Amino acid sequence: MRREEADGNIAASQPRCEIAKTLLEGECQDPGEVRFRGTLLCAPHAALLEMEDRAEALLGSVFRMDEWLEENGSSAADEEFMGRIRHERDEAVAGLRLIRAQVRTARNALE
Ligand SMILES: [Zn+2]
Repeated sequence: MRREEADGNIAASQPRCEIAKTLLEGECQDPGEVRFRGTLLCAPHAALLEMEDRAEALLGSVFRMDEWLEENGSSAADEEFMGRIRHERDEAVAGLRLIRAQVRTARNALE
């Protein structure tokens, strides 16, 4: 227990990080500092959720590009355009890998 908690209500009036409400993580004892999608979070947890969001968005665009390539890959679609989509897909996958690594690092730092 920290000193303020033993001494009085100062700590009680300080809202805590509500990461447990997101069902992604367990309880967090840090003070809530940032509001992210209606949930009060400590800065490290807010950063983590933001990264998870970006990873999910990237994954979604990789899926969409894969679908498109599957549907159009064998047709007489413009080769140059196809190449551009493939390149964009590769870049999205590389970005996804980077974010996944950052998420892992952030998680390890929080444990
Ligand atoms: Zn937290």
